[in-house]
Amino acid sequence: MLGAIAGDIIGSVYERHNLKSKEFVLFSPAARFTDDSVLTVALAEAIMDNADFGLVMKRYCRRYPKVGYGASFKRWAQAAESRPYNSWGNGAAMRTSSVGYAFATLDEVLQQAEFYASFTHNHPEGVKGAQATAAAIFLARNGAAKDEIKSYTTSRFRYDLARTLDEIRPAYTFDVSCQGTVPQALTAFLESQDYEDAVRNAISLGGDSDTLACITGAVAEAFYGKVPDSVAAGVRKILDEELWQTVARFHAIYTPIEKSRLL
Ligand SMILES: [Mg+2]
Repeated sequence: MLGAIAGDIIGSVYERHNLKSKEFVLFSPAARFTDDSVLTVALAEAIMDNADFGLVMKRYCRRYPKVGYGASFKRWAQAAESRPYNSWGNGAAMRTSSVGYAFATLDEVLQQAEFYASFTHNHPEGVKGAQATAAAIFLARNGAAKDEIKSYTTSRFRYDLARTLDEIRPAYTFDVSCQGTVPQALTAFLESQDYEDAVRNAISLGGDSDTLACITGAVAEAFYGKVPDSVAAGVRKILDEELWQTVARFHAIYTPIEKSRLL
């Protein structure tokens, strides 16, 4: 989950000013955490506390009101009673990384990814984006090779992962859909050498940079085993204490090998 949050923070300064390059200072002085991180932590908390995710998201939204939520999500979060709004937005995928760690089988991961997406993103593409992301994380952390992750996401979700980053990049523009974010984020991971390279790949595409890097970073962390210490330290500086403690609690339970480094 730290990999998702780091991606969001690193990408936060490029969402409105696309870079289309891999050359940049990893943590810009202006980098901050955005809705991707806040809702990622909210979902992890809901899982750990077995709490109503809808209520948890609304509480996080009140606590962190100005971190870049989409307009429909904000309306949903501010309403006393709200229903899922059939969203196909990439928010379903950006917040889902903890699902890939917290469940023991691929079937359960798929089912829980749908469950947690459907509080808001109950459109088939919203559900699919969350499932593909969580499944890629689950496969990666269980030792699947990149080829296996690629062929599974291609056959199960019908994502086209045939195009390289160099082929995607020239025409790629801001896209808040799952179907226009998740395949690109997965490609950024598949072409990477390590965690940092994966995040640089994601940002080099342009588009919704923080969300792309969040999804890519989540899968890369699971695949490469951890985020580099320097990246964890960068996150520690920028995330507030309350969010950090929840991240640390999640990692202590689900990736215990990281415990000594995180706390
Ligand atoms: Mg964001």
